[in-house]
Amino acid sequence: MKIGFIGLGNMGGPMAANLAKAGHEVIGFDMASVNIEGVTLADSGAAAAAGADVVITMLPNGQILRAVADEIIPAMTAGAAFVDCSTVDVDSARAVAEKATAANLLPVDAPVSGGIGGAAAGTLTFMAGGSSDAFAKADPLFDIMGQKAVHCGDSGAGQAAKICNNMILGVTMIATCEAFSLADKLGLDRQKMFDVVSTSSGYSWTMNAYCPAPGVGPQSPADNDYQPGFASELMLKDLRLSQQAAESADADTPMGQAATALYEQFVENEGGLGTDFSAMLPRFEKRSRG
Ligand code: NAD
Repeated sequence: MKIGFIGLGNMGGPMAANLAKAGHEVIGFDMASVNIEGVTLADSGAAAAAGADVVITMLPNGQILRAVADEIIPAMTAGAAFVDCSTVDVDSARAVAEKATAANLLPVDAPVSGGIGGAAAGTLTFMAGGSSDAFAKADPLFDIMGQKAVHCGDSGAGQAAKICNNMILGVTMIATCEAFSLADKLGLDRQKMFDVVSTSSGYSWTMNAYCPAPGVGPQSPADNDYQPGFASELMLKDLRLSQQAAESADADTPMGQAATALYEQFVENEGGLGTDFSAMLPRFEKRSRG
């Protein structure tokens, strides 16, 4: 297949390299100067997209996605798939899909989970929204870049799944950290706290697989001085997307709202910028009820 790949950053770069390694012809474009093994660089997004069977975008946000879509859609061949793997707001995903469909393209919103490690190893999880035909065209490429792809529904459903998942993630990380902080103040040993909660009804991915307490549970960013991992500002971005979606869909999400406010405070005023999102635990350690 001939693949156009636009946005060759931390995630897009290794994803494009994996497609090239699997034998596809990959024509890439990024605003920054990059060099990706096996990928031929074009000098614009439109040039990378022209004549491709599938165009993949992996961009920072919905505003940039909308601008890139306006540039590349007229250059794309009818019947080609437009697969956006960025994490963006549901409204942008649906607006881009509408324009692509009007140009006889097959749009798929397919954000990912698995981080930079998963992008390099080809073990990402894709959550996809779009028609069955569009999903079928993109699915063999998801197999190369990832280990699992779930077709969640029509356009926007992939972004909806991603935003809901990450809202749970932000809320449970805060709950896990505040529980550790309370346990500390009650004199409970952290290892005992982990042993009980990880096998009781309070268990969660944040406790069992990504424990925010250093030296407890499996290896996690807490054991590496809270270097990300998944940066607090990216958690904040996703929580803000969840609140934007909740507002636009008129959904009541008080826990998501509280988590957004707390990560906002942490990133903007309390030194959280650039730390892993599990660094909420040292933040709570420094605080009292007030
Ligand atoms: P990144 O900043 O490393 O990469 C984005 C790339 O897009 C950059 O190289 C930038 O130069 C390029 N770009 C920006 N505007 C452009 C334009 N108009 N035309 C062409 N290229 C342009 O970011 P990333 O970490 O690769 O993340 C990309 C997306 O994946 C984001 O939406 C992010 O939320 C999502 N995501 C990231 C992770 C992660 O762990 N990094 C995990 C899951 C999802």
